[in-house]
Amino acid sequence: MATIQHIINGQRTSGSSGQTQAVFNPANGQQSGELVLGGSDEVNTAVKSSLAAFELWSATAPAKRAAVMFNMRQLLMDRADEVALTISKEHGKTHDDALGEVTRALEVVEYACGITEKLKGDFNANVGPGIDTHSERQPLGVVAGITPFNFPAMVPLWMIPMALATGNSFILKPSERDPSSANLVHDLFIEAGLPAGVLNVVHGGKEAVDAILDHPDIKAVSFVGSTPIAEYVYTRGCASGKRVQALGGAKNHMIIMPDADLDQAADALMGAGFGSAGERCMAISMAVPVGDETADRLIAKLKPQVEALNIGPYNQEGAEMGPVITAEAKSRIEGMITQGEAEGAHVVVDGRNHQVDGYEQGFWVGATLLDHVKAEMSVYKQEIFGPVLSVLRAKNYDEAVALINSHEYGNGTAIFTRDGDAARNFASKIQVGMVGINVPIPVPVAYHSFGGWKRSIFGAHGIYGPEAVHFYTKLKTVTSRWPTGIRSGAQFNFPSMN
Ligand code: NAD
Repeated sequence: MATIQHIINGQRTSGSSGQTQAVFNPANGQQSGELVLGGSDEVNTAVKSSLAAFELWSATAPAKRAAVMFNMRQLLMDRADEVALTISKEHGKTHDDALGEVTRALEVVEYACGITEKLKGDFNANVGPGIDTHSERQPLGVVAGITPFNFPAMVPLWMIPMALATGNSFILKPSERDPSSANLVHDLFIEAGLPAGVLNVVHGGKEAVDAILDHPDIKAVSFVGSTPIAEYVYTRGCASGKRVQALGGAKNHMIIMPDADLDQAADALMGAGFGSAGERCMAISMAVPVGDETADRLIAKLKPQVEALNIGPYNQEGAEMGPVITAEAKSRIEGMITQGEAEGAHVVVDGRNHQVDGYEQGFWVGATLLDHVKAEMSVYKQEIFGPVLSVLRAKNYDEAVALINSHEYGNGTAIFTRDGDAARNFASKIQVGMVGINVPIPVPVAYHSFGGWKRSIFGAHGIYGPEAVHFYTKLKTVTSRWPTGIRSGAQFNFPSMN
């Protein structure tokens, strides 16, 4: 069985903690690897390596840093199947879905290829007599990323290309549930020409996270995961003087207006609700049809599709949805369906106790459709993060909008309609960070930035794109004057340039 190790200064090491954790193949429920878990010793060693690497890397011309990204782009394209397979074996998502994850990661690498343009500073000549001003953005130093299980390659690659291209060194603490993709990403960067130590990988759980949050030489932390941990990471990281961006959980609603094309809307809900077994922070978990007639027509279209969903392991031809990540996730999700039913939701399609032939020990939850969900139910308030699509019937558009705006999460949302006025009003008034108009999963492309609102994010910056250039750099503004006029004596009033 594979032992999955830390990678510090380009070398694989088991560290000194002596602690390990099992990694599983969720499709068959079998242990596939043993992960070493790090703590402050491993983080301290990684920081030393990262500090030394930063000296050289930050002084490397941005065009040379970009050259590594160009190589990485080619490697990710050439080796996409291998990366996807590594993802699926530990996460469980289908091969096509894993390839989609690699493609979205690739986009961020491509954006980082253009870093020379993004790092151009500003310059003004003659801001005063013989005085010039320029501003530039300099890297922060050693920065760290803490990532979730649901996109084990893409979320690290939301962070690493931008942090490195802007001149920082990076320590990655991946999810302990599917850690192998992170090590592969590291190895591809080395193959792309990244010097050892610029990117280090420390595996582990809370102990490793706390060591990162408290380390005085780590200047910034990017976190993606659930809201309680995001808030914890933000609070503790800020308290130790770091710059922190912490992206949290979600409950994404899709409004279906009476004039929408219901075939399109149902197809969109199938993909956005059940793709990756609903384990996406941009999954649509709440369908909000406007009016009972729309709701009845929608349910009639959805029910047979949900029942017919092809559920199977990642390597099975035609599989549309895989298992959930762990046995605990399976029982938690099934428990939430049971609680929703007890609170009055109608279980239209029941995915509890789902079995897949030949994979009886796998962590399967069947696709589930709930109707007549109400705002006070636990299945509405909490993120389920599983293959459960709930329908909450709204009387009218205003009620649907009010519902979304009063939810604690504000990651993604969508409206399906043919009415331009409704769509425009929705885009303007909705209190959510990423909005789709007839687009169910509006994940911004890499040259925009990703980020929710409300308790789906803590910190001022979105992730990747232009926001990342600002997050991973600090502004320096230089005002300069050459000899003439310097000898005019001290000046005690607040300086103006006139
Ligand atoms: P998680 O919060 O359990 O774990 C995320 C990271 O935090 C992992 O690296 C984990 O090791 C670490 N961690 C877990 N418990 C900790 C603790 N007590 N103290 C310190 N660190 C701890 O999240 P997950 O289950 O891996 O991922 C699913 C969640 O991530 C969902 O809530 C999903 O919505 C969210 N997510 C959000 C986005 C986004 O962009 N907003 C993207 C992907 C996933």
